[in-house]
Amino acid sequence: MTARNQTRTRFAPSPTGHLHIGNARTALFNWLFAKHHSGSFILRIEDTDLKRSERSYESSIIDDLKWLGLEWDEGPDISGPSNHYRQSERVDIYKEYAERLLDSGSAYLCYCTVERLRELREKQQSNGIPPRYDGRCRALREMERPKDINPVIRFAVPEKEVSFIDGVHESLSFDASTFGDFIIVGSDMVATYNFAVVIDDALMKITHVIRGEDHLSNTPRQILLYEALDMDIPLYAHLPLILGPDKTPLSKRYGMASIKNLREDGFLRDGIINHLCHLGWSPDKRLLSIQEAVDKFTMKRLSRSPSIFDIAALKRLNRDYLEQTDTDTLVKMTRLHLKKDLPYAWLKDAIRAVRGDARTIKDIALLLEPFLGEPVYNEDAIKVLEENHVKMLLKALFEEVEKKEKLSVDSYKDIVNNLREVTGKNGKQLLMPIRAALTGRLRGIELENIFVLLGKEKVIERLKRYITGCTP
Ligand code: GLU
Repeated sequence: MTARNQTRTRFAPSPTGHLHIGNARTALFNWLFAKHHSGSFILRIEDTDLKRSERSYESSIIDDLKWLGLEWDEGPDISGPSNHYRQSERVDIYKEYAERLLDSGSAYLCYCTVERLRELREKQQSNGIPPRYDGRCRALREMERPKDINPVIRFAVPEKEVSFIDGVHESLSFDASTFGDFIIVGSDMVATYNFAVVIDDALMKITHVIRGEDHLSNTPRQILLYEALDMDIPLYAHLPLILGPDKTPLSKRYGMASIKNLREDGFLRDGIINHLCHLGWSPDKRLLSIQEAVDKFTMKRLSRSPSIFDIAALKRLNRDYLEQTDTDTLVKMTRLHLKKDLPYAWLKDAIRAVRGDARTIKDIALLLEPFLGEPVYNEDAIKVLEENHVKMLLKALFEEVEKKEKLSVDSYKDIVNNLREVTGKNGKQLLMPIRAALTGRLRGIELENIFVLLGKEKVIERLKRYITGCTP
């Protein structure tokens, strides 16, 4: 088997922000494709935009990818046969290939000033022509080159039709004569995205490029560069955009859609991975294990229409995974979301009691809050506690609780039955004030669990406040 026969995919983020849903989906699909074909998955950091790139974003992306379980075979932190996996460290390589293109006449130096390019653009626009470079420096002779201007390097785009088979869109064709000679190296000697990506994908022997549809217009330009350099062209698959619930494209601007935020909000890795699997791919099964996703992943089932990232659907999935997670693991995860360290055994019981009402780990932590310190009474709870019958009710409850040695599910039932008889109250009128007084909220876990988790001492203490007239 030659190296070229081995499937090699890559994820090539620009470290200009946190990993967001769109990029995470790209990483996942490349990872799944590589794993499905027992190939390699490569991480490359595209940090040529020095102004916007930050090392802290690179670390954050790496951290999120690892948390998602999308580990790579070669990358900036583990190296590999290409040695450098950050574009900022590959400047000399781009220079070498740019020189090759200059030597073969496929590229040329362009000295046009910003002013000239602006005038050209304005003129074209006023004549209704799409703006593009007019090729003026293509035929510039050595002696005509200005000495005081740092040139850019432009690719001499051949007049031809560029056709390729896309993994999602099938057969596509572009007329290169509309492109204009694009810049491959800037006047600051920094390679542009279209050039660096081609050199890197070719030298890293990438066989398949799965990326967002926003790159579709770059692909024919990149193919022309491969042809000019006589390098193997990878197969492309362009994934349709991911839209928000409002049908506008999700973008890095929406913090909510970053993996970092989803992690902080207590979503599970499996829930996120599963939701990503359903964004543009139809795996034919609702809940997939990662191994099932690897086994099933094919380009054939990739969709051509945009998909919607829906936080409500993610929450539903997450809840299903939460149900499958054992309590010990949940204790570990919940601890990261709690402000206070709690005894393991108590926490385990508490999580057992609240987990059915939670969709995320953060939900679990929030549901536990009333048991951790003094309750914070919200407006609705205060309103209920101000109702006329409440003082009498809580006094009766206090007396019933006093009679019990310990609070358990059974003693709770007993207490509530007696209370019903003593006070003549029922349903919401009976239960809401108790919930409000004990937790400060009107929603939460089953009342019987509240009794058990608080224990007799705390219940007495919280009820006393009302009886002594000391309301929140
Ligand atoms: N750095 C590019 C991006 O983040 C990668 C594009 C590509 O996959 O070719 O969009």
